Amino acid sequence: MIIRRLTWRGLLVGGALAASASASPMNAQAGDTTTIVVRAGTIIDGTGTTRRNTDVVVRGGRIVALRPARGRADIDLGNRVLVPGLIDTHVHLGWYITEKNRLHQRGDGDDESIAAINATGNAQRMLQAGFTTVQSVGGSEDKAVRDAIARGVISGPRVLTSLGSLNERSGTPDSIRMAVRKFKEQGADVIKIFASKSIRDGGVQSMTQEQIDAACGEAKAQGLRTIVHAHAASAGKASVRAGCSQVVHGVFADDEALLMMAKAGTYFEPQCELISRNYLDHKEWFRGIGSYNDEGFDAMEKALVLRRALVQRYRAVKGLKVVYGTDAVAGAHGQNARDLVCRVRENGESAVDVITSATSLSAESMGLGAEIGRVAAGYQADLVAFDGDPRTDAESFMRVAFVMKGGVVHRQPPSFTGPVRRYP
Ligand SMILES: [Zn+2]
Repeated sequence: MIIRRLTWRGLLVGGALAASASASPMNAQAGDTTTIVVRAGTIIDGTGTTRRNTDVVVRGGRIVALRPARGRADIDLGNRVLVPGLIDTHVHLGWYITEKNRLHQRGDGDDESIAAINATGNAQRMLQAGFTTVQSVGGSEDKAVRDAIARGVISGPRVLTSLGSLNERSGTPDSIRMAVRKFKEQGADVIKIFASKSIRDGGVQSMTQEQIDAACGEAKAQGLRTIVHAHAASAGKASVRAGCSQVVHGVFADDEALLMMAKAGTYFEPQCELISRNYLDHKEWFRGIGSYNDEGFDAMEKALVLRRALVQRYRAVKGLKVVYGTDAVAGAHGQNARDLVCRVRENGESAVDVITSATSLSAESMGLGAEIGRVAAGYQADLVAFDGDPRTDAESFMRVAFVMKGGVVHRQPPSFTGPVRRYP
């Protein structure tokens, strides 16, 4: 990779200053007029189109043009494969493993500052892994991290957050509607709803249709999207009936539930393996907390098998919009691309299709389809390049060499010896 001409310092400061003008997840870059030409041997643009030897012209944090490579490039990525910044629609930003190698729990001795530093670390790891936008579903602690990133105080992906969640204990339909409005007041980007138990607890439907109706109905009235944790088929169907935006997990989703989602345009977010593997390979981090016990871990083993079977069924449903969400919890941040590898290797999906799922389609699911998720003129300059070609070697998704977010470089190869290094 060759990088020349531009002054990195000016570029970085310009980006951070422009970002401070707005705490929105879009980091408006109004004052920044630096032009940067990024050249790549191969671009997979996020909509299924592949281009060869192309220059991406970036100005003011946005892509202003794509053109055949010519003349000098500021950043020459050589034969690396360039894609839009990746999007994970389902992470848990605030979950982390403590110094004692245990899942952080309230009352374990870690105060809020330690928790905030760990959440910051999680954010940075995800950005370094090529994820320029994540949706955290999510706790109140997400707000400070989201806003600090948007202001350019710390490095991290754009964060959208639910700031909390609703479940069967959230009360009557009226109190649920009030809680939705309260989340909106506090600045939530999305509403998270637990309509079923976890896999460890059997995954059965936990909220009534009336409760789900209230949550998704009020959110819609307030202009907010809804993400519903739903393992049981009945919970998924109830969510579609209630007009919820996105159904998550669906380990027990039957064909009828999948068809209902496709028909209603409900986004579906199944996981591949990162979430299960993270628990099963590190039982000691979790064992003894709640239902993290032998029975719970057995249920997760079984869920891995069910997830495999689910793939063939959801892929057969025409028009079903399958977005990318890993459910990255403590220990999994920074490995968010693991499910891209899994979806190619284990599910037999094409690398180009899973890139579309984790870019333009996931952007659309978050209402940001005109802003992020494509390498195209007018879009945010969120660009990620891999060492290797994921179309021939899926593991390339884990080898991120270059990350630009909103025109600001956050990662470059260690071999690069240019004048100024990465953000901050
Ligand atoms: Zn989750």
